Amino acid sequence: MSFEKWYINEVDADDEFFGAGVCSCGKKGYHLDCQNRIFQAKKEWDFISSLVNELGYSKVVIENNSAFGSTEKIIFDKLDINGDFEGYERSDVLESTSTFFFPVGWIGCCGHLVIKDSFEVVSFGSYIGEKEHIWAYHQSISLETLGKDRKNTFTILKVQDVENTTKVLKSFLDSRYVNNEIVPKFNRQPITLEDVDLYFGIRNLLTSKYKGWFEFEIS
Ligand SMILES: [Zn+2]
Repeated sequence: MSFEKWYINEVDADDEFFGAGVCSCGKKGYHLDCQNRIFQAKKEWDFISSLVNELGYSKVVIENNSAFGSTEKIIFDKLDINGDFEGYERSDVLESTSTFFFPVGWIGCCGHLVIKDSFEVVSFGSYIGEKEHIWAYHQSISLETLGKDRKNTFTILKVQDVENTTKVLKSFLDSRYVNNEIVPKFNRQPITLEDVDLYFGIRNLLTSKYKGWFEFEIS
């Protein structure tokens, strides 16, 4: 294995976090392990992007789009901000048949999804990015920012990788509960869990979907 052009370019780039010649691990120079890790992460990121594309999202086309103009006005009024909001670019808005995603955020918030029919606003947190949130919204994962009302029914359909499935479940469920109550039932699927707060498991559920660790259903 040798260093590839895209990785060399990344290390050489003088970006704002790492100066020129520094790998994203924070150390100077090129590292094969890091190249491989970044490559795997990029592939997983492409997978998440493809899920969002499959949901019908693409960059908004602003020309002759009266729904966009009126929705933008309503959301900005609601959020009490204006079009000069720092970092906001209209061309970064995403649109699907039923929603717009406005990438206007601040500490603790990475943007807002607006439902076209009702102008309902779903504000995203910042623990994960916009694409993960969009996917989660379409899985009916409860995204309530305050947390206490985040409840879903979560069904484990088929476990392919016991060790990694256990790790993923522990990212949003109590470890002891997972060990004592769920792992012993892995051979008796489906396993249905009520009133689960999935928010902090979204990223790991996506990784699991990408790696094929286990199959699940959310309602
Ligand atoms: Zn490195």
